Amino acid sequence: MSTRVTGRHTSTSRRFNAFEAVNAMFDRAADRLNMPDWLREILKTPFREVTVSVPVRMDSGKIHVYTGYRIQHNGARGPWKGGIRYHPEVDKDEVRALASLMTWKTALIDVPFGGAKGGVACDPMNMSMLELERLTRKFTARIAIVLGPQRDVPAPDMGTDGQVMAWLMDEYSSRRGYSPGVVTGKPVNVGGSRGRVTATAMGVLAATEAYYAAHNQTLAGKTCAIQGFGNVGSFTAKFWHEKGGKVVAVTDVKGGVYNKKGLDVPALWTYFNEKRTVAGFPGGEVMNNQDLFALDVDCLIPAALGDVITPNNAGTIKAPLIVEAANHPTMPEADEILHEKGIVVIPDILANAGGVTVSYFEWSQNLTQFYWDEEQVNKELDRKMRKGFHDVYELAKKEKTTMRTAAFMVALQRVGDAETQRGN
Ligand code: GLU
Repeated sequence: MSTRVTGRHTSTSRRFNAFEAVNAMFDRAADRLNMPDWLREILKTPFREVTVSVPVRMDSGKIHVYTGYRIQHNGARGPWKGGIRYHPEVDKDEVRALASLMTWKTALIDVPFGGAKGGVACDPMNMSMLELERLTRKFTARIAIVLGPQRDVPAPDMGTDGQVMAWLMDEYSSRRGYSPGVVTGKPVNVGGSRGRVTATAMGVLAATEAYYAAHNQTLAGKTCAIQGFGNVGSFTAKFWHEKGGKVVAVTDVKGGVYNKKGLDVPALWTYFNEKRTVAGFPGGEVMNNQDLFALDVDCLIPAALGDVITPNNAGTIKAPLIVEAANHPTMPEADEILHEKGIVVIPDILANAGGVTVSYFEWSQNLTQFYWDEEQVNKELDRKMRKGFHDVYELAKKEKTTMRTAAFMVALQRVGDAETQRGN
């Protein structure tokens, strides 16, 4: 399978777990909105948390029992929505944090969903296709009771892809009848949407271009460094290059490469497709993650795991702009350092919302059984991303705050209103 899992740093000075970190950002926005305590409590608490054991027969003949999660954070604005992650570091706090980020992301980009996330603590890089299929079918069977096109709609995330979604759809449909709308990110041939594979990266580019346009600049000629060469990192590199920007450095879990004149991205793709890593690419010098963060580039793009911008390395960052293609790449303590240094951050719930936006288009195509061409998908995606950017950018200016706090304010207001209007 085409999984491209990427690596992370660890910090010694971690104050918050991932879920507390998201809630710290939540509180900053809730304070500005004067949100009442009862509403804060509802919006911070996950609606439902499912933990399942997932016994899988491995190729060796032995049974391995994995642990899987599906956490539905808030469903006031529509069915729960969010990816399924296969990664060794998946745990309940992380899934909770990612589920709540989905609530804010879907509200901010204004698609009619709530927020959820799922995951299985496993190492997909070291599993065979058959093992992954058996794992996916068993996990689906055990969480199927809380899924459904009108209830909860998973999607790909780190370590999962269209093939995993196809198995999930098949397993669910074999119980409930043909249900393409139970999951998004499927291959086009089995009900997926055109443009879904590239959607997150396209959204990253649209948000970045909107930022430059707001400053009478363009992306052409701008340099960037990208951490991660998974689905999001690899397509972000491709599009950045195609738009006339320079990708000067890329790292993945096995290493990285740097070329101050700009990497030959098409050649890097060819190399990656063969070697499954960017490490050792002959078109540049060796690069590691810590040095990548400290590069003197126009834009830094974390596109891998969470918590990679820490209080330890935030001070070394020279890029004036950070675009968070990954989910929660910046620890709250690091966020304060970046703010003091005047570094602008386009936050994750805006920057990487392109994926769930096209998931919405896919779900809507599945419900109507009327399929769009790629041009229409990309046009609507671009429109949604630019609208999301301007909602955040204008509010940040008005409130004299960061784009992160403004993004949370927009999202909290919308979910809070829905929660209040629906009543208790
Ligand atoms: N896993 C992606 C995210 O974190 C996409 C979620 C979706 O499409 O539902 O936004």
